[in-house]
Amino acid sequence: MTLNSGAALNVVMLGPPGAGKGTQAERFARRHGVPKISTGDILREAVTAETELGRVARATMDAGNLVGDDVMIGIVEERLARADAGRGFVLDGFPRTVVQASALDRMMNGRGVLVVVEIVVPEDVLVRRLAARRICSVCGANAPVEWTTVCGKCGGTLVQRTDDGDGIVRERLKVYLRETKPLVDYYSGRPSFRAVDGNRPPDVVMAALDSAICQASQITTRGAGA
Ligand SMILES: [Zn+2]
Repeated sequence: MTLNSGAALNVVMLGPPGAGKGTQAERFARRHGVPKISTGDILREAVTAETELGRVARATMDAGNLVGDDVMIGIVEERLARADAGRGFVLDGFPRTVVQASALDRMMNGRGVLVVVEIVVPEDVLVRRLAARRICSVCGANAPVEWTTVCGKCGGTLVQRTDDGDGIVRERLKVYLRETKPLVDYYSGRPSFRAVDGNRPPDVVMAALDSAICQASQITTRGAGA
């Protein structure tokens, strides 16, 4: 299925750690020529560049706290205002809370349909995947299976994640599900919400995501009379 020309492709991807969300978001974004916006990346950039926001974020994180809704909403709003996001975007890591989700709805005013897609994977599969996961020791990128020994972004050495022991993995998944449940409830009644089975090979998941997102974006666009 292809998109109406001129229609914006505004996407939020939800999915637990280990679902392959980051990789899928990146591939989808590249394929459709829209930016993948990861709040983790934006925060790291801001901290490195020592912007005003970066200083606030670093102070918060150094104190052992999570960066709050206001700061996250601010940086996403700033990012979505850039020209390259005019034809759409793929958000990865935002929103994380219902407060952030309703702020995003306000930002979407005049921008067209927001498609929300959740990648669903059974817990046991996630635990297995996470236990085998590696990251780049230099830039911190999550290594997809194609990267055998070095990082595909910076050439750094891949290492096993230290926080991926079995008990810790299960605890992280519990936290994720607890925090994400209200978000899924917030979105799941909408005609532009889709759940996709992520327990399949990456290329199959990619194709399923692609058709689900394009279909959801078109159906709701027609429904709105655009
Ligand atoms: Zn790297």
